[in-house]
Amino acid sequence: MELCNRCGRPTIATFNFRGKERWCPGCGATYELYNSCVQIKPTEERQAEQDAIYQKAAPFLQAQGIIYGRAIATEIDGKKVAVADLTDEQRAHFQELADNSWDYPEKVFI
Ligand SMILES: [Zn+2]
Repeated sequence: MELCNRCGRPTIATFNFRGKERWCPGCGATYELYNSCVQIKPTEERQAEQDAIYQKAAPFLQAQGIIYGRAIATEIDGKKVAVADLTDEQRAHFQELADNSWDYPEKVFI
């Protein structure tokens, strides 16, 4: 488990941020996937907390990848959809999620 260098919260590995593969749900910092954060051996409790955060953040991360990342396809209602084929309504929905669906407790951005 890797901890954020800025706020100390556990980070999440994700490919939804352009050029960075690790995201801090606490402050919004992003990092490269390997050797970029302090590594700790996770406790069962901390791993469960991180898993719960990952589940909660999944819609935000999907939208982030579509709007600001380099996602070329996504899954909507169990079907794979090319980002280029999204309707204006779907794109607006993901824009709203990417911009307003995640509250950062630490609210610090790089
Ligand atoms: Zn952080």
